[in-house]
Amino acid sequence: MAWFKKVRKPIEPQAKKESRVPEGLWVKCPSCNEAIYNKDLVATLNVCPKCAHHFRLGSAERLRMLFDGDWEEYDAGLRSVDPLQFVDTKPYAKRLETTIESTGMQDAVLCATGRIDGIETSVAAMEYAFIGGSMGVVVGEKITRAIERAIERQLPVVIVASSGGARMMEGALSLMQMAKISAALARLDRARLPYISVLTDPTTGGVTASFAMLGDLNIAEPKALIGFAGPRVIEQTIRQKLPEGFQRSEFLLERGMLDLVVDRRELKAAIARALRFGLPQDGPARSPRPAVTAAEPAPQP
Ligand SMILES: [Zn+2]
Repeated sequence: MAWFKKVRKPIEPQAKKESRVPEGLWVKCPSCNEAIYNKDLVATLNVCPKCAHHFRLGSAERLRMLFDGDWEEYDAGLRSVDPLQFVDTKPYAKRLETTIESTGMQDAVLCATGRIDGIETSVAAMEYAFIGGSMGVVVGEKITRAIERAIERQLPVVIVASSGGARMMEGALSLMQMAKISAALARLDRARLPYISVLTDPTTGGVTASFAMLGDLNIAEPKALIGFAGPRVIEQTIRQKLPEGFQRSEFLLERGMLDLVVDRRELKAAIARALRFGLPQDGPARSPRPAVTAAEPAPQP
């Protein structure tokens, strides 16, 4: 039996003051607290003009940033079929449906060919807004096709990763995409075509554990979270405090996990330079790998 009864009503929360500024016109930078006019942010490629904080960039904006002009999109209609009839907090089929509606995309990657500083390139850009940029069967198939298209047409490949990892709702099928994409990249390597991996915030899980770290050049954006398991999980497992800046681009560059950390505003120029360097030039370099001649002595074990 309750001895005391609460007679008074609980304090009501204050009514929200109505803002006179329309929603979405200003963005507050989480790093320096500067209020930035949304249109200015578009002009600076979603980078804070004051402190260079890199906001996330959607896949379409990413292609707009990389390509000189128009691009041709491929496999835009591929769609997951929910093979496991998976249900978590809501059915996967339902989740797909609402995400497709809100993003206007069928899955979490956009694949296209176009010119980067005049160099025809096959690009796959991941979309974080689509179920955390998770890699399911469709993402795997689309990226694999983008690589195969590059081999067929002798083009270099650029993949922009932005992903929480494999898509849990597709179970083991999503994990298989790691091997599938990696195998396609091995074929690209045999065709002597360059692959540049661009790691953006965040690149984690199965994506880091496969294609995002397999680039001939692995380029990251500043302060991007890049890792396999999240820092909280690691801390709980090893029961140690993690060092400052752990799993961020600069930390990984210092330890040799990355080749470059490049500001987004200079990224296109850096990629173009690397592609020029990596692509076979017209001339003797164009010839296939030299075969080992019979006269050459066999290597001794
Ligand atoms: Zn800022």
